[in-house]
Amino acid sequence: MALEPHYAQARLVDLFERKCELTFRCLACGTGKTWRRDTMLGRARALLGLTLAEIQRRTPCPRCGARMAQLAVSGVWEPLDLAERFRWEAIEALRSAGLDPQALGYGWRPPQPRR
Ligand SMILES: [Zn+2]
Repeated sequence: MALEPHYAQARLVDLFERKCELTFRCLACGTGKTWRRDTMLGRARALLGLTLAEIQRRTPCPRCGARMAQLAVSGVWEPLDLAERFRWEAIEALRSAGLDPQALGYGWRPPQPRR
């Protein structure tokens, strides 16, 4: 049930921005489900601002109702050179879906120093 601490405080929108997917697996019955981008902008859009720890606590298994989800994140967590492009793509995608990027913490930001 433990979520990697690295991901526990990440918000769903952070996964969305990095083009990652979130997989749930129920520890009680083994049912699995995966949230892809369409789910994050669709059914799960109200959860975009929540952390994975919060989502894990409040999302019951669709089959047995147990709140014993194991979460896994797939994708590239550190997009490095693509980070800025991914950020803009996320803002555009949120806007097109009728969501307010600013409400999710996006806004003007000074250019990040290159590492
Ligand atoms: Zn279950």
